[in-house]
Amino acid sequence: MSAVIEIEGLRKTFHGPYRSRHVAVDGFDLLVGRGEVHGFLGPNGSGKTTTLRALLGLVRADSGRMRLFGEDVPRAQARVAARVGAIVETPQFFGNFTGHRTLRLLALAGGVPTRRVDEVLAQVGLLDRGEDDVRGYSLGMRQRLAVASALLKEPELLILDEPANGLDPAGIREMRDLMRSLADAGVTVLLSSHILGEIQLLCDHVTIVSAGRRVASGPVAEVLAGHDRHEWLVRVP
Ligand code: ATP
Repeated sequence: MSAVIEIEGLRKTFHGPYRSRHVAVDGFDLLVGRGEVHGFLGPNGSGKTTTLRALLGLVRADSGRMRLFGEDVPRAQARVAARVGAIVETPQFFGNFTGHRTLRLLALAGGVPTRRVDEVLAQVGLLDRGEDDVRGYSLGMRQRLAVASALLKEPELLILDEPANGLDPAGIREMRDLMRSLADAGVTVLLSSHILGEIQLLCDHVTIVSAGRRVASGPVAEVLAGHDRHEWLVRVP
C-alpha cells in the first residue's frame, strides 16, 4: 500500500520565558497508508496537535522529514494543499446562518463550485437539516458540518483534530458511520483523540504517541492488545 503520510524524526521545541524550553514533539514517526482511517492516540499534551500543525505547514518544525503523497512538505505544501482537507481548530460558525449558507460561503471563498454544497451535506448526513440555522445544531451536527467544510474540495486526505471531542455516544456513532463512508469512498483519514474508546470505534489503524514520541503503531486490535494497561488509556471514559 502506498503511503499518504510519512513522518520521520519530527521534532518541535517551544521556547518560553526565562530560556525555558518544552519539547512538544520528540523524534516522532508516522506512516499512514492510502484508504486507512488512522487514529492518532495520546494523552493531552503529548504533541498530537503540534504534529498535525507541522504537517499542514502551520507551525515550523525544528527537524525531521515529512511527506504527503510522496512529496516533501512544507516545500511542496502549495502543490499538495488541494488534496488535503483539515480541521485542526474548532471552527466557529455563525449561529444565524443555515448549514447550507455556511458551506456556500466557504465554497465561494475557496473557489469550489457551489454544487458541491449539497453533495457534502449529503455525505455527512445533514442534507435534510441544511436549511436549519446552525444555532439549532447539536455539537455532533456542528462537528459534521466542520467535516463537510473540509470535504468541499474533494480531498484525498482528511486530517481532523479531536473530531469526536465532547460528543455523546450517539454523536460518536454518527461520526463512526461518517468515517467509514469516507474510507469506503477512498478518502484517507487521520484523526486525533485522547480517548481509547473513540479510536476503537472510529479507526482501523492507530499510532500511539506519548511525550512526543511514537509508542506503537499498526492495526487497532493488534496495537491496543499490547497497550491496554497504560494508565491514561484505561482511565479515560
Ligand atoms: P491536546 O489533546 O491537549 O490538544 P496534544 O497532544 O494535541 O494535546 P499539543 O497541543 O501538541 O498536544 O501540545 C504539546 C505540548 O506543547 C503541550 O505541553 C503544550 O502546552 C505545548 N505547546 C503547544 N503549542 C504551544 C505553543 N504555541 N507555545 C508553547 N507551547 C506549546
